[in-house]
Amino acid sequence: MEIELIESATLNIPRKERFTIARGSSDVAETVWVFIHSDGLVGQGCGAPSEVTHETLLTMTETMKTLVKGLRGVEFHQPQEIADRMDKLVPGNPAAKAAVDMAVFDLAAQVAGVSLCRYLGATRDRMVTDTTIGIMPTAAAVAHARQWVQEGFRALKVKIGTDPPGDLERLRAIRAAAGSKVEIRIDGNEGYTWGQALQFARSAKDLNIAFFEQPIPATDLEGMRVLTESSPIPIMADEMVLTPNDAKKVRWGNAAKMVNLKLMKHGGIARAMEVDTICSSAGYPTMVGCMGEPQLSVAAGLHFALASPNVRWLDLDSHFNLASDPSSGLAFKNGHLVAPNKPGLGISVTWPG
Ligand SMILES: [Mg+2]
Repeated sequence: MEIELIESATLNIPRKERFTIARGSSDVAETVWVFIHSDGLVGQGCGAPSEVTHETLLTMTETMKTLVKGLRGVEFHQPQEIADRMDKLVPGNPAAKAAVDMAVFDLAAQVAGVSLCRYLGATRDRMVTDTTIGIMPTAAAVAHARQWVQEGFRALKVKIGTDPPGDLERLRAIRAAAGSKVEIRIDGNEGYTWGQALQFARSAKDLNIAFFEQPIPATDLEGMRVLTESSPIPIMADEMVLTPNDAKKVRWGNAAKMVNLKLMKHGGIARAMEVDTICSSAGYPTMVGCMGEPQLSVAAGLHFALASPNVRWLDLDSHFNLASDPSSGLAFKNGHLVAPNKPGLGISVTWPG
């Protein structure tokens, strides 16, 4: 395959409602779209900047210029070759690289004539995904929980990390409204101190919480170790794992029991596979999550998740909260996110305007 032409464009997509987590609020999903042309086919990808990877729409646009220049005319056999080449062209910038990487995987699977998850070796085509209740007043959170359980969601992720007593009251109310069969996960997004996090986990012990994501700052390896050893709710690492080396550090430091993977954090599917392999060998099951992303890149995360037996949980829900998504093709059935059975990512993009 030869990369003949790469087009890219930015798009601000309004959210249906404000999304608030411990580090701040967002009304818009900022996105960068990539279209790679090769021999009559088009591979599509999308990236979303975040504070977690220290990227903005501006840095992504600048990085894309370098990648477009360095990749034009390049021939490849395996998508991994492009991931290696991107790392030589520019360090870091994983969300920009993720957009290109998934477009390359989309192309490769289209050439192979199979869906991307099949191309990657999947034996399943769907997984249960949660949907997320951001930080909001308890009454609103309870209304969201009721609505989403009614719509078929079997798992809810509850954002906490700003106010332990308020967070606990909200979490208790959500558990009561959702009933005992719905799986509930919590995410502190680095908002607590380790003392607050440990106290919170002990207070929420009776609520049957599946796991507690990144309760404290990503830099506090020792705090994460203490929590991993002492918290009655299993601890999951998120913001502290971007690279394969980060995953090794978590293992050496015994700083979590599971890891949240995101294509935007690792730089796409090729690198996410590397991080997942390290997690698997360390005995860490993984989740696949997302930033503020449309169906196109959520689909890439889904195809990747389906292909790895080590991926146990899905947190691919950002597209549910977009007011206008130019991409479509994912289905949501009985609580499961279902991958399209078409060659490649299987996602259609209709550019606005
Ligand atoms: Mg998280």
